[in-house]
Amino acid sequence: MQAAKRLEQIGAYLFADLDRKQAELTAKGVDVISLSVGDPDLPTPAHIVDAMMEGASDARTHRYPPYGGTKEFRQAAAAWFARRFGVTLNPDTEVLALIGSKEGLAHLPWAILNPGDVSLIPDPGYPVYRSSTILAEGVPYAFPLTQERGFLPDFRQIPSAVLQNAKLLFLNYPNNPTAATAPVEFFAEAVVFAKQWNLLLVHDNAYSEIGFDGYRAPSVLEIDGAKDVAIEFHSLSKTFCMTGWRIGFAAGNAEAIKALATIKTNIDSGVFRAIQQAGIAGLTGPTHPLAERLRVFQDRRDRVLATLRRIGWEVPAVKATLYVWVPVPGGASAAEFASQVLDRTGVLITPGTGYGKQGEGYVRLSLTVADNRLDEAMQRLEKAFGPARIPSVTHGSPTS
Ligand code: PLP
Repeated sequence: MQAAKRLEQIGAYLFADLDRKQAELTAKGVDVISLSVGDPDLPTPAHIVDAMMEGASDARTHRYPPYGGTKEFRQAAAAWFARRFGVTLNPDTEVLALIGSKEGLAHLPWAILNPGDVSLIPDPGYPVYRSSTILAEGVPYAFPLTQERGFLPDFRQIPSAVLQNAKLLFLNYPNNPTAATAPVEFFAEAVVFAKQWNLLLVHDNAYSEIGFDGYRAPSVLEIDGAKDVAIEFHSLSKTFCMTGWRIGFAAGNAEAIKALATIKTNIDSGVFRAIQQAGIAGLTGPTHPLAERLRVFQDRRDRVLATLRRIGWEVPAVKATLYVWVPVPGGASAAEFASQVLDRTGVLITPGTGYGKQGEGYVRLSLTVADNRLDEAMQRLEKAFGPARIPSVTHGSPTS
């Protein structure tokens, strides 16, 4: 058997090397703490689990669901959107249920690109934008997100020769991996740019609800006329700690929704109805479980930033997402540094290059392990890299 050539283009699993190292160290008895994946450790709120249980025991859910989501789910998503962003969506034409937002993001290029068409993708960025473009025989063009610009792109730097062939523009704020946020004015600029170049603006808003210190991320669809050119992807994964359940939705431009729905009818057969019922419970139910979870993540963010700053690592502010994007101290490469951290502390972090070339010089830490493990990871880092040893026995902490 020989796998298709297109697999060569999307390359091997980004984290294979670190995974191998982790396995080697674990086999030697090292207690590895992984701050690599962004997968909330906190449980899905009970009222959502209850809705799923009730749905699963109703035999009517056991048959094929409607392709684009049940009417009730699409209505719940539209109602949530109106409450959260003040944007009215037609649940029949402007909302589409997804088997997680990754599924929709991965299938969208199939619906929009012809071979050779360009997708504009952020670098660093969520790897699916690139791989799905390649799988659809499109050409990814990576635009840089730099710290000097707050990890917002400078659209003026994209050559017009590229723009003439471009059909998709991927954006993602709050951003993975940089944790950057974008003001509503940025989205207004992006909508103008998309109109000017006839692009479908694809906004990945998977982290819209993970904001700290009262920060509330906007939707691109809040911009007047955005629906003419934009589709936005939402995920229930991070919002409701439901990564394992696989449910999200796309919202916005009706033509793009229709095109994506057509691709999906040929590939999948929708989201299990009981999971959609659980999704409805999340979208329409009490908000305090989300607030409680946010407090936990915010608290973890505070502890991680405090530790890294005590060590002397300069970390940009983090007001959203489940990640901390850390400039590598001392000029090592991202991969070397991540490897050094693993060797010296048993803490697994992600080299920024996993998200694109511009991720060189950065590593990503995630906030999704249990508090005691995170604290242990921070203690190990401070002990190994701090200017003074942790107050272990005799020395006081220099910043206490
Ligand atoms: N978009 C971004 C930026 C992500 O980081 C993730 C998951 O980590 C997703 C989309 C996919 O989320 P899901 O498929 O669980 O909805």
